[in-house]
Amino acid sequence: MHWLKQLGVRTIATTGVQRLFMTPFESQVTSLLFHRFFGPGESVSCGRERIRKMCGWLSQKFTVLNADQFADCLPTQEFPERTLLITIDDAHKEVLDVIDVFQQFGISPVVFVPLGWIDSASSQQPEPTLAAMVTLLEHSDDCHWKLEFSNGVCVDLKSQGRLSGIDTIVELCANSEGFTAELRNQLTEFDAKSRDLTSEFCTWHELQSLHQMGVSMGSHSVSHCRMAGHSAGRLRYEFEESRRVLIQRFGTCRLFAYPYGTRDVHDAHTEKLLHAAGYDNAFLVHAGFGLNGKRFALPRVDIPDLELNDRLFRALSVGAQIPLIHSKNVFRKEHRRHPKSDQ
Ligand SMILES: [Zn+2]
Repeated sequence: MHWLKQLGVRTIATTGVQRLFMTPFESQVTSLLFHRFFGPGESVSCGRERIRKMCGWLSQKFTVLNADQFADCLPTQEFPERTLLITIDDAHKEVLDVIDVFQQFGISPVVFVPLGWIDSASSQQPEPTLAAMVTLLEHSDDCHWKLEFSNGVCVDLKSQGRLSGIDTIVELCANSEGFTAELRNQLTEFDAKSRDLTSEFCTWHELQSLHQMGVSMGSHSVSHCRMAGHSAGRLRYEFEESRRVLIQRFGTCRLFAYPYGTRDVHDAHTEKLLHAAGYDNAFLVHAGFGLNGKRFALPRVDIPDLELNDRLFRALSVGAQIPLIHSKNVFRKEHRRHPKSDQ
């Protein structure tokens, strides 16, 4: 049971217990992550009332920054006491039902926008963009696409594998309207499939309205793929194209949030290319409050898509689950290292 002893010591010495009890609340920098705002079966009016109470408590307890204020503080890491940033991933339409409530309390969230889904959801786009097509290929369940281009390149997503196949397509099409048009002609099932995938996301028009209400936009990549493991060309496309479009539409794009946000989607390579693409920082979804100088692996506290009561929401927001999450991680690591020691 040697590992058990180590587990206890490590948990107390190096994990969220330390963050929770040894980092004074006043000096914590808190980023909350929302995806959706209503629990399963919850009515919009009940959900809005719950969010109203939540916002009231947050605005009393924290100094809420907007995306620009947050990004301005990062280089020196000098934040106001009890800093809070509200982040919303994926731009689901539910944000439209609650944004005025946030606004009533002076809270300006940042929405992390997945470019391809928004392109697909926006009917004003005259024809599918490369971003929308790459996103469809990334998330389409039946991977039977076999695509041929006029320069002789053939991409078979089934035999070649999705990851490598899409890398090839991006390499070919990212700088060539001609090849993008050839791809468009071959994806004849595009419309029906993309409608299935994207009906619940905001359109560009809706995001523009949110922006006028003070919401900032950050990048959530082009195709919402797992970043680590992709070629440099694909990563550049995911980082640069999403940023280019957001700057064109909203004037600025300083923040990035990794799709899925787990530690395995981030590595030194993704970090280097994010920096080169012009981002100031990037968020993961691991729980924590300390920045530790890691500007491209910032923590966020994940708020689950459930009808949380006041007490539970408040407990999560101040990090009640962090010791548990870190203990589980330490347990998994120790168990992998000594798989038979508990028999
Ligand atoms: Zn996401």
